[in-house]
Amino acid sequence: MSQSSEREKSKSSQVAKSDTEWRQALTPEQFRVTREHGIERAFSHPYWQEKREGMYRCVCCGQPLFSSTAKYDSGTGWPSFYAPADQDAVSEHEDRALLMRRTEVRCAQCEAHLGHLFPDGPNPTGLRYCINGAALDLGTDDPDGKSTK
Ligand SMILES: [Zn+2]
Repeated sequence: MSQSSEREKSKSSQVAKSDTEWRQALTPEQFRVTREHGIERAFSHPYWQEKREGMYRCVCCGQPLFSSTAKYDSGTGWPSFYAPADQDAVSEHEDRALLMRRTEVRCAQCEAHLGHLFPDGPNPTGLRYCINGAALDLGTDDPDGKSTK
């Protein structure tokens, strides 16, 4: 404990970890997608056609992100949802990386990159949350995400 400048423990609920810590906690694909803003190949992750009911949680911090009730088959090869489980569960950021304005979607709790948001989804929201399966962890015993166990 000689480091007096050691980072102050976060006062917010944000989960802050170093890249090294995330690398240890995640698979290489999960790390590439969530911490390096990677995009998995379409149809590469089984969640794109996952039909089981449950709550898709953040693979990094476990926060409930998307319910299977809002999941639909967009035909894109990525898990797609028309709404997050809670408006506060995700945060949106403008992304100009490809000279094309897109809205990036991140986990509001740990800043994990999840995917992108497009305005061409189905009713009732008209939104399409196009999410990398590698960023998600489906819990099938907890459809509401309310379980604290
Ligand atoms: Zn998270």
